[in-house]
Amino acid sequence: MTALAKGPLFITNTLTRRKEEFKPLRPPHVGLYVCGPTVYSDVHLGNVRSFLTFDVLYRWLRQLGYTVRYVRNITDVGHLVDDIDEGEDKIAKRARLEQLEPMEIVQKYTNGFHDVMRLFNILPPSIEPTATGHLIEQIEMVKRIIGSGYGYEANGSVYFDVPRFAEKHAYGELSGRKIDELLANTRDTEGMDEKRSPLDFAIWKKAEPQHLMKWPSPWGEGFPGWHLECSAMSTKYLGQTFDIHGGGMDLKFPHHECEIAQSVAADGHAPVRYWMHGNMLTVNGRKMAKSEGNGFTPEELLTGNHKLLEKGYSAMTVRFFMLQCHYASTLDFSNAAMQASEKGLERLMKAMALLPKLKPADADEADISALEQRCHAAMNDDLNTPVMIAELFEAVRIINSANDGKLKLTAASIELLQSLMHSMVRDVLGIRDEADASQGNDNALDALVGEFIRLRAEAKGRKDFATSDAIRDRLAAIGIVLKDTKEGTTWERA
Ligand SMILES: [Zn+2]
Repeated sequence: MTALAKGPLFITNTLTRRKEEFKPLRPPHVGLYVCGPTVYSDVHLGNVRSFLTFDVLYRWLRQLGYTVRYVRNITDVGHLVDDIDEGEDKIAKRARLEQLEPMEIVQKYTNGFHDVMRLFNILPPSIEPTATGHLIEQIEMVKRIIGSGYGYEANGSVYFDVPRFAEKHAYGELSGRKIDELLANTRDTEGMDEKRSPLDFAIWKKAEPQHLMKWPSPWGEGFPGWHLECSAMSTKYLGQTFDIHGGGMDLKFPHHECEIAQSVAADGHAPVRYWMHGNMLTVNGRKMAKSEGNGFTPEELLTGNHKLLEKGYSAMTVRFFMLQCHYASTLDFSNAAMQASEKGLERLMKAMALLPKLKPADADEADISALEQRCHAAMNDDLNTPVMIAELFEAVRIINSANDGKLKLTAASIELLQSLMHSMVRDVLGIRDEADASQGNDNALDALVGEFIRLRAEAKGRKDFATSDAIRDRLAAIGIVLKDTKEGTTWERA
């Protein structure tokens, strides 16, 4: 179907704080950039929600007939502990702790990230560039920022001159921050022997001799500032100005604000026309984070092996649960809500299975094309998936009534209903059968079960048979049976 048939799309632009009609710069092409993960640790469920938001956007843009170039980066250098300009690189720190090469850390957690994305049926982007693969572009961008007078070198590092930039350009527009308020609230004096203002941020950092990840530059050996990679890579692949930039709410400031300033300083253009931010996942009202002890991993979720989980939930149940909430609202995770989603999804899938068996009648007692229009209208209204899902439950009611012989549908209506359900559930919401899901994820499952087998062997080694049995039972609960043979332990599906 064409974009015209499905009507215009409206999205909330965080820059203007208004719902605006989406008009791409060069239709039918759309440029979409989303900040990817810093690959120094396992992905938790809060991260999954953010990537899921933009997965649905990507899917819906394609449904509307757009050709989307979707760029989602991998941050593999430059993201310092505490997100400030001082301290250790997150990846280098992990490398030291795990006694691995930084690039082994990067590979390990990139692989893990991809496994998780596949598990939740989150589509891969068109381009997945890495920060270390774009050092030349970043160094060139630093040079352009210095050239325009908004960057200065100090002792081998290069800083962005925020107050000077703010004299001529808007700074803080995206996040609603004001320069004087920021100054009044800054206690951070780190790097102040080099910075002209505490608001300035590093675009290139000098590397100390013991620093693991460093590259030669016109300012000596160093590494790029965290905000710089997204500016350099979005410019390279999507142009100096592109359509949509997405990310989690917590990236609005300073990360995205700095991205805007860098692009304006380097190339004279605001980089992005529509900014979109997904909201947080909370657990019992508190932000999900590793430091809170409530950031469970996908593995813990599937097995139920976490103190906050009453049982395990499938990846598709989690996906459906998340999409029952609008992306811009906070979503609170609870066992009750998860169990309601599990039941809802089951009802939806059962009704879909009935569709091919419905007997056509000679009249219509439900208006399927009106239902279709309402589904499209919900998606065009700032990706309102909860409203769209409510319409799908109206479809479930129609299907069940038709199946019970209480409602008539013509062959044409049944066919339309079938294509509607397929496109909304499979293509837009990205829900697949759990059987397909595990088929497509045998690699992820293999790794996961392998980890359990290793843990069980360890428990046995300690003669901790209670733990060993608990692991076997947990696997049995998700339909995985362990086989102990002379060669070792293997697994198969029950
Ligand atoms: Zn970014």
